[in-house]
Amino acid sequence: MELRAPGSVPERAGRHPTGRGSRRPGITDWGCGIRPGGWIIVRLALALILSVCVGAAYANGIRLDGNLIQGGLALGSAPPGTGIRLNERPVRVADDGGFVFGFGRDAPSQATLHIRYLDGSREAMPLQVRTRRYETQRINGLPDRMVTPSAKALTRIRQENSRIAAARRLDTDQSYYRTGFIWPVIGTITGVYGSSRMLNGEPRRPHYGIDIAAGTGTPVHSPADGIVALAEADLYFTGGTVMIDHGFGVTTVLSHLGSIDVGVGQPVRQGDVVGTVGATGRVTGPHLDWRVNWFEVRLDPALLVPEMPKR
Ligand SMILES: [Zn+2]
Repeated sequence: MELRAPGSVPERAGRHPTGRGSRRPGITDWGCGIRPGGWIIVRLALALILSVCVGAAYANGIRLDGNLIQGGLALGSAPPGTGIRLNERPVRVADDGGFVFGFGRDAPSQATLHIRYLDGSREAMPLQVRTRRYETQRINGLPDRMVTPSAKALTRIRQENSRIAAARRLDTDQSYYRTGFIWPVIGTITGVYGSSRMLNGEPRRPHYGIDIAAGTGTPVHSPADGIVALAEADLYFTGGTVMIDHGFGVTTVLSHLGSIDVGVGQPVRQGDVVGTVGATGRVTGPHLDWRVNWFEVRLDPALLVPEMPKR
């Protein structure tokens, strides 16, 4: 949701806090430029070049790439049949050994990957999760109904939230997310992940999406392959809303759509048009709000894509 009162200053897009110089390790960047789609083919080559890869390689064939940072999505691979837990949470491992997990906005700086190998041996791998600082966005002069929904609206919001939560619990055994991600819309970034919000002086939940301002009717593309998990024309906060299941708990939410071109259950490829930019739901102007989740964990979409191209 984007809320901007007259005279308020939009948030800066900010530098991407991913480090590693100018090379941004996103999901499109599978260590040394190797993408998981070609995993079997590159396995031999990988053994040769592991020593020069930027990603972290560990003993016994465990490999981690991506973003070990608050809001980041981490990609891993393990010998097939390996069991993985992040802290106490089981992580689904694909038949080829690929797995994925994410860190929330306020994830602790220490995590542990528990590994159970096929031969029964176990290993605990400590992970260092980079922490971030988030801006506070103060927005004043908003109409009351946008800050405090009515009792009637709250009932509707709860019903809608339970449907969204159900879509986020999907645990599809298809690694669609391995296509990597692209920006669903090219535009001006007006809201970033993680910023805490004061609306009319009252603290509200942090913003978990990235807001991209673009003209009404601009096509919105699926950021990765997946299956449409939810397609709703008019939700209270998010208006026209499409959720896409990228498999293994990774979902995308595209909000405030003016029109929707897909239906639930429909497979989509990366780049397919799923709808258009609109100003539906609780907004002050046309824009796309793009969110990415790993199950209930909210991730920063900006960590998955290159810098927003200049228009
Ligand atoms: Zn937003």
